[in-house]
Amino acid sequence: MKEILQDLSRAELNALIEEMGEKKFRADQIYTGLMQGKPIRDLPVSPALREKLLERFEDEPVKVYKTLVAADGTEKYLFLLADGNLIEGVLMQYKYGNTQCVSTQVGCRMGCKFCASTLGGLVRNLTAGEILSQILVINREKGGTLKDRAVTNVVLMGSGEPFDNYDNVVKFLRNGTAEGGICISARNISLSTCGLVPEMKKFASEGIPLNLTVSLHAVTDGERKRTMPVANKYKIKDILDACAIYFRATGRRYIFEYSLISGENSDEEHALALARLLKGKPCHVNLIRLNEVKERHLNTVSEKEAYRFLGVLEQQGISATLRRSMGSDIGGACGQLRAAVLKDEQ
Ligand code: SAH
Repeated sequence: MKEILQDLSRAELNALIEEMGEKKFRADQIYTGLMQGKPIRDLPVSPALREKLLERFEDEPVKVYKTLVAADGTEKYLFLLADGNLIEGVLMQYKYGNTQCVSTQVGCRMGCKFCASTLGGLVRNLTAGEILSQILVINREKGGTLKDRAVTNVVLMGSGEPFDNYDNVVKFLRNGTAEGGICISARNISLSTCGLVPEMKKFASEGIPLNLTVSLHAVTDGERKRTMPVANKYKIKDILDACAIYFRATGRRYIFEYSLISGENSDEEHALALARLLKGKPCHVNLIRLNEVKERHLNTVSEKEAYRFLGVLEQQGISATLRRSMGSDIGGACGQLRAAVLKDEQ
């Protein structure tokens, strides 16, 4: 694979253009074109400069390979990377704007028992520019511009564990929130982690005030180990401490994801234990009914059971919502589409 031009920060691009002996304003033209989601071949520069760039950099590091549209308007994308790998993305339309779900790795090595993204293990990390390009491409496809973006919110909840690809993800966050670029406010970005404690603590010192989201899915370490192998390494208590550090550093309340699995974590006792665990903390709980994955033998709960769980949390004074499961008719859960396409093509 060639290098990825979208990896570069504004300053790095300026330096590159100077190094190539080009005039400074060329960097502005290139940067704006890239942020508009243009491939190198469509950048408004001389054919000679375009050729020089194409020798060294990928023309289009992320391409839409397949689009599925669900009954509720949710769109699911399969993106093709320059080395032939596939990743998934989702665009969910809400009243207040469009939220894009972005991948940070090809596959994942965290091994959560309910998740389809991790079925084939980790293939490779995405670069900062590959993460950013998912947004640039969809913003362009949906008719968005840099002033009037079609993608207003971003969640790092596609395939991959963002903190297992720490440096590239932080670089993506810096480039993606920079003035003059696609410039998505950190407040409109959610980063979801399975709870890699050292990286969570390190991230608190980066000065990026986003919505830190932690996949909890259990109330005791013993139960968490049953579905999340990462629980063998980090305790819930240490995750809560890391969240508190993030809150102190940024003033941002944090969020817990809790997928309700039948016979596993969804009884009234679990709701009460979850409330005890989180009482008084500046946090919010996002409940979601498990999206059943064919290859996994875990069952979801009924809507009634989910509302009962939510009711207990609310009664206990915990801020919580039950998320609508969007796009389930097109394989909304992580990794399901990629897994299906890879299987078809085998
Ligand atoms: N690696 C990150 C991002 C993962 S995806 C993390 O672990 O947080 C975003 C969320 O979807 C996580 O909370 C993840 O646990 C959850 N998830 C994965 N598969 C799911 C499924 N089949 N049903 C419901 N939630 C699922």
